[in-house]
This record gives sequence, structure tokens and C-alpha cells, in this order.
Amino acid sequence: MPEPFSTHEVFNQPPPLEDVNLYASDAALKDAIEREGAGAAGEALVGFGGVTGSAEAFERGRLANEHPPRLQTYDRQGRRRDTVSFHPAYHELMRTSCEEGLHSSVWSHLGAGGHKPRPEAHVARAGAFYMAAQMEAGHCCPITMTNAAVPVLLQQPELAEAWLPKILPFRYDPSFAPAADKTAVTLGMGMTEKQGGTDVRAATTKAEPVGAGGPGTEYIVTGHKWFMSAPMSDAFLVLAQAPKGLTCFLMPRFLPDDSINALHFQRLKDKLGNRSNASSEVEFHGAHAWAIGEEGRGVATIIEMVTHTRLDCAVASAGLMRLALANAVHFAEHRTVFQKKLVDQPLMGQVLADLALDVEGAVALSFRLARSFDRASDQRASAWRRLMTPVTKYWVCKMAPAMVGEAMECLGGSGYVEEAPLARLYREVPVNSIWEGSGNVMALDVMRVLQREPEALAQVLEELGAAAKEDRRLKAAYERIEDFLQEPTLLDQRGRTLVEALALLGAGAILRTSAPAAVADAFIATRLGGAPRQTYGQGLERADTRAIITRCSPNQS
Ligand SMILES: Cc1cc2nc3c(=O)[nH]c(=O)nc-3n(C[C@H](O)[C@H](O)[C@H](O)COP(=O)(O)OP(=O)(O)OC[C@H]3O[C@@H](n4cnc5c(N)ncnc54)[C@H](O)[C@@H]3O)c2cc1C
Repeated sequence: MPEPFSTHEVFNQPPPLEDVNLYASDAALKDAIEREGAGAAGEALVGFGGVTGSAEAFERGRLANEHPPRLQTYDRQGRRRDTVSFHPAYHELMRTSCEEGLHSSVWSHLGAGGHKPRPEAHVARAGAFYMAAQMEAGHCCPITMTNAAVPVLLQQPELAEAWLPKILPFRYDPSFAPAADKTAVTLGMGMTEKQGGTDVRAATTKAEPVGAGGPGTEYIVTGHKWFMSAPMSDAFLVLAQAPKGLTCFLMPRFLPDDSINALHFQRLKDKLGNRSNASSEVEFHGAHAWAIGEEGRGVATIIEMVTHTRLDCAVASAGLMRLALANAVHFAEHRTVFQKKLVDQPLMGQVLADLALDVEGAVALSFRLARSFDRASDQRASAWRRLMTPVTKYWVCKMAPAMVGEAMECLGGSGYVEEAPLARLYREVPVNSIWEGSGNVMALDVMRVLQREPEALAQVLEELGAAAKEDRRLKAAYERIEDFLQEPTLLDQRGRTLVEALALLGAGAILRTSAPAAVADAFIATRLGGAPRQTYGQGLERADTRAIITRCSPNQS
């Protein structure tokens, strides 16, 4: 029976993209996992792909962002507690990712039994993390920080011994309690202060030793942090000025006598996106913290955490680009305009294929980078990790906002409203290029490699040069980079040009050796040759756009 007051039939409205296996339906991801050596993880990734792409998981993502965390400075009796309350959906997202081990799986070998690291641990985790970001991006912040804090903690063995047994389990325990009473913990990081985030050496927060001072000993920390995300974490890696200079500290929420440490959260940031994740402003009112490493070595100590989070920024951004692309293609495959499916309209075919090429490039670079973390003891991989971490983080995170914006337009007006995931994705993506080193900072880091570790550059260039030999355009791109390097006095100004050139050559070389010809040819023809362009949907008139779109369609599995 038609409804009495209905005026029309609803048709030509594509169904939402949900209950989709985020692994099985993603050819670029599956190829990357195989290519980078984690094929053995395929079965687990299929399982997690089903969980993260379920309608329930996407709904939790929506709820966690529509009901952002709230700071509860005092308890009902007026005692200072500084806790953060989250919607239950957020806790479910955290539980899903922690039970998959995304906060610690690459360190499992450090647990009881002391087995060898899995050779594909980082690539396999990256595959799952890429899907967790699609499920919901904000909760990935504490996940990534916990994972990345471990190599810093390892530099202070007694602290690692105390904390690792609580970090490693694949569990989630959100209770506000001393770590000893919890089944699992998470860690955060506090570096950025009001007067400087990039320039962390300008930190004014002071640390006074309780006794003689030195690695592993207790200090009293007074000062502030302007951004400290995931304030509900159980401990934080914090930078502060000790008598001999900037030093890295572990600052727990509870002290050994079970009292609450003096971290006073001022407020939570009101952010553009990333709304499910709490990011705080905090003051340390004589908080207790334990030094990791020598006084004055703070940046050198914490840099390993930063490097791991940069990998995750790229992997998560690639995942968000993939979700945007999958939604755009799915919509175009279901929507009819002018008697044709949208996907079959020539101009839309150009746009979708062009978007897909950036996702292919982002996936290629991010998973190749993950492999270099797995093989860090190999000199060549270590050189790739050093040079290509800032290059990959720069390019992938910078491509994401433009790419997601164009994908949103593919859905027309429906893309712009909050019920579709595109609007939230669009607000989410800029954060990965801002935090953990903004664009210029990545370019400066590459310059640092050129000056201080030229052998890393030489090794990467040797590899890229060999890969470029057989392809005229790759060869030309390689020679252009060589030309830049001949003019070192201009490099300060050309930092971004060099970084982008390295990213495109790296992606082109990986795709040339392993992606279907339609993808590699079109990527290289448009990104490393062809007419200059500023917007999507150009230069692919001779490309096999049908093959590129079919490969990236989420409806192919
Ligand atoms: C959502 C969110 C969560 C965050 N969470 C945390 C957290 O948990 N812990 C934490 O410590 N921080 C956190 N941050 C802070 C973030 O890491 C900093 O904002 C970032 O490092 C930039 O620092 P800044 O804001 O002080 O900007 P500035 O350092 O003032 O930089 C401003 C701009 O100048 C550029 N710049 C800086 N130096 C140079 C140079 N020499 N040459 C050319 N350009 C330059 C930068 O690239 C940037 O674009 C978070 C930020 C956001 C947005």
C-alpha cells in the first residue's frame, strides 16, 4: 500500500557503501600486502576487513564523532580528577583495534617467550591500521601513539620492563586507575607548547631532578603543553628542560602510591575534524616523571616515536583516500544520469580513474615504507626508511585533502551532507599533514638527510635509478632529481619540489614493477609527464580508465 501522503517514489538513490570487506574489495591493498611480504597475514586481514567495513562499525564511527569527548575536571564531590568521558561507540572502536593488536603487534616479540620479530609485522599491521582508519580515524591517534612509544621506552630498560607487560596485551581497558590495576594501558605524547610546536627546543616546561638526576630517575615537571592528544592515556612521553637541556620523560597519570599525578587539563580543543579524539591543553603542576635517556638528549630520544607516527599518518591517510574513492565509485556505479550510469559518463570516468591513481600511488608508497620498518637492519631498507619517511608522509598526507574533496563532489549534493561519510572524511584528512611534522618540516627533514646522511640518499637514488632505466618518463624524472642535486644552493627553496619529485618517482617505480599496466602507464603519463594540471580528470583520454576503475571498485569482490 502506498503511504497516503507520499508524493513520490524514491529511486536512483545509491545504497550506502557498508557491509563491505575493506580488504577483499581493495585490489591495491591486497597487492601491496603481497608485494611487501605480508601475504601470510592475508587471512587475518580478510577477517578484520569484514569487521571494519561492517555497517555497525561505520555507525560507531559516526556516533563517536557526533558525540565528541567531554572533559570532566572534577568529580561530583569536587575533587580534581581531570578525566575525559567518551561515547560508548568510541570505546567499542578502541576495543576493536586494540583486540586486533594495532597498538602493539609489531612489538609482540618483546613479550614473554622472547621469540623473534615477525618479518612482516609492520606491513601486516599497516594493512589492518589502514582499515581501522576507514572504520573511524580519530581513535587511531591513541593507537598509533601507544605503538610508537614502545621504541622510546626500550631506551630505558627498567621503565620498559614495568610498562611493556601492560602495553603488549591485545586488550583495551579504559578505566581510570593506576596501571598496576589495569589489564591494558595506552600512551600519549606531549611535545607542542604555546610558543612552538615545530621548534620543540623552545620548550619552557621545566624538569627538576628529585635526587641526583639522570636516565631512569625521577623529576618534578612544571609547565604546560598546548596540544596533548588522548589525555585519557595512562602515561605520556613528554619533553621538558632539565638542567642539562631538553629531555624526554615518561609521565604517568598515577604515581607509585596510587595518587593522581598533577596533570591539570585546561580544556579540550574544538577541532575541524578528528572530533572523536580528545586533544587537550594541559598544565603540569609539579607532576612526577621519569627520565628516558640522558638529559639534553630529548629530541634524539623521542625521534623514534615521531618516525613511527609519521608512517601511521601516511598509512591512515592512504586508507581515508581509499574510503573516499570507494564511496565515489560505488555511487557512480549505482546512480543514473542522462540514461547512463554515472560511471559510464566519459568525464566522470576521467575523474574517478584519476582519483584512483593517487590512491594507488599512496598505497604503493605507504606499504613500501612499512616494509622498510620491517627490514630496518638491512642497509638499503634503512636508507629508504630514513629518506622516504618524510617524503611519503609529505606526499600522501598532502594529496588526501584535495583527493577527498574531489571524491566528495562525485556524490553531488549527497556528498556534502553529514549522513554520507565524505563530509566527515573531508574534515578529518588535513590533520595528518599538520601534526607530527607539517609539510615544510618534512621538506626540511629531507634536506637534513641530504646534508648529514648523504649515503641514505645515494642508496635510495641507486634503487630508483635502476627501476627507472626501462621507462623513458621515469628516467627523465630521475634525471630531473639529479639536476636539482647539482644546485645545492637552491635546495633550501626547492625543498618541496624535491620531496614531491622523489614521491612521484618512488610511486611510479613501484607501480611500474608491480601494478597492472593500465594503472602504471596512466600514473606515469599524468604524474611524471604530460601537460601540467591543477585539478582532477585531465590527461587520461588515452588511458584505459575502465580497467583502472574496475580494479578500484568496492563492488568487484
Ligand atoms: C589534532 C591535533 C592533535 C595534536 N596532538 C598533539 C599531541 O598529541 N602531542 C603534541 O606534542 N602535539 C600535538 N599536536 C600539535 C602538532 O604536532 C603541532 O601543531 C605541529 O607540530 C605544528 O606546530 P605548531 O602548531 O606550533 O606550528 P609552528 O611550529 O608554529 O608551525 C607553523 C607553520 O610553520 C611551518 N614551519 C615551521 N618551521 C619552519 C621552517 N623552519 N621553515 C618553513 N616553515 C616552517 C610549519 O610547517 C607550519 O606549517 C596536535 C595538533 C593537532 C592539530
